[in-house]
Amino acid sequence: MVSALTIDDVRNAIEAGQTTAAALAREFYRRIRQEDSEIGAFLTLCEERALAQAGRIDQMAAEGKPLPPLAGVPVAIKDVMVTSGVRTTAGSKILENFIPPYDCTAVARLEAAGAVILGKLNCDEFAMGSSNENSAYHAVHNPRDKSRVPGGSSGGSAAAVAAELAVATLGSDTGGSIRQPASFCGVVGLKPTYGRVSRYGLIAFASSLDHVGPFAKTVKEVALVLRTIAGRDPMDATSAEVPVPDYVAELEKPLKGSGEALKIGVAKEYFGSGLDPEVRAAVEAAIQKLAELGCEVVPVSLPHTEYAIPTYYIVATAEASSNLARYDGVRYGFRAKASNLSEMYRLSRDGGFGMEVKRRIMLGTYALSAGYYDAYYLKAQKVRTLLTRDFDEAFKKVDVIATPTCPTPAFRLGEKVNDPLAMYLADIYTVTANLAGIPGISVPCGENHEKLPIGLQLFARHFDEATLLRVAHAYEQARKAA
Ligand code: GLN
Repeated sequence: MVSALTIDDVRNAIEAGQTTAAALAREFYRRIRQEDSEIGAFLTLCEERALAQAGRIDQMAAEGKPLPPLAGVPVAIKDVMVTSGVRTTAGSKILENFIPPYDCTAVARLEAAGAVILGKLNCDEFAMGSSNENSAYHAVHNPRDKSRVPGGSSGGSAAAVAAELAVATLGSDTGGSIRQPASFCGVVGLKPTYGRVSRYGLIAFASSLDHVGPFAKTVKEVALVLRTIAGRDPMDATSAEVPVPDYVAELEKPLKGSGEALKIGVAKEYFGSGLDPEVRAAVEAAIQKLAELGCEVVPVSLPHTEYAIPTYYIVATAEASSNLARYDGVRYGFRAKASNLSEMYRLSRDGGFGMEVKRRIMLGTYALSAGYYDAYYLKAQKVRTLLTRDFDEAFKKVDVIATPTCPTPAFRLGEKVNDPLAMYLADIYTVTANLAGIPGISVPCGENHEKLPIGLQLFARHFDEATLLRVAHAYEQARKAA
């Protein structure tokens, strides 16, 4: 019964009295207990909170009141978003027993729209990783092939949707962590424009690159969740005062109106060596499909793309080294026993953080240190501007840019854990959107010979999620019909 349920199915079934929010929540918990031991998507369940919310929805339905847009929809949240009274670990031992006193804005908005929060999802520690193997708790297995990674860092968020352990989930994306796991698990994942969704209550990794965004099985559901969580929040000074369109209504606008055709840019920089041939073929076929739908395909150039990974790993680690200074054993989480204060700081951080987090703190501290700042951090900021200008130029000519989401399909668990640089390359096509702040989405566009999912990535102008979603939806519908 719960399999292949969409957000609309849930709301309609509750409205029609065919099920209740409480029955549905119980059914999802039953599935999680049965199936998640082999997947590992969840770190914490919050049954009491979920059933209380489900009760409120069922009460409204019983009284014949109009139901909110996400009424009774079972959702789950990446464990980097704080939840009042519900343990939030960021995938780290340092926050193993951390119970936040407030809710992340995106979570509060989902709940206010009727969603039922089932629990918190596994992720790489502090969202640092591309395979979910950096979680301090346990790895996540890709539901499509359990010997493979689900991608990361929002691996639990993608796997939970793919395994239908939640109807929709939230993840965070600092360099690709929504789009890359969406691609690996065969679901839809969206990273909005920087400032589109509040980061209040998102545990900071790299503040100028961090984004909150949705995962779901279809583009329409992603549009619905985005509509719910987007918009100015007085608690996040970087959230933008830009009106939120009705993304769902916008989906139905035809791609080929009476005016000019939508232009889809294709940049050769995203199709170079290192791109798996089956991924290339699937993405090229998807672009061909967009052309058949009436889009005009236009070559564009993004000449600074080759500098994106080094730029990202300087900016991200620099910001992380500063953001993670707050975990000192005093204010949050784990505190080591020690005989004096500086030993307490040292042992708490040494015992609380994992290898990858320590590596990043060291890299970031180095890049920001006197004597190296100009050579690394300042230089990276300048290249970041050049990368942003590449997109500004390209978007003078096209409305959307199409690329592969990842160079390969999901790799095997263990395959890259001992080679951080190989792991970093998994983000080669995704980090640019974080550096430029533009929105990006990953939509399934095929499978390789081993039935592993492949993702098509689309980018759009700042705050033009409406066009991004519209193109993604048209493609998804055409693919389904084929
Ligand atoms: N994989 C990238 C990293 O390790 C991106 C992570 C993310 O987007 N949170 O930094």
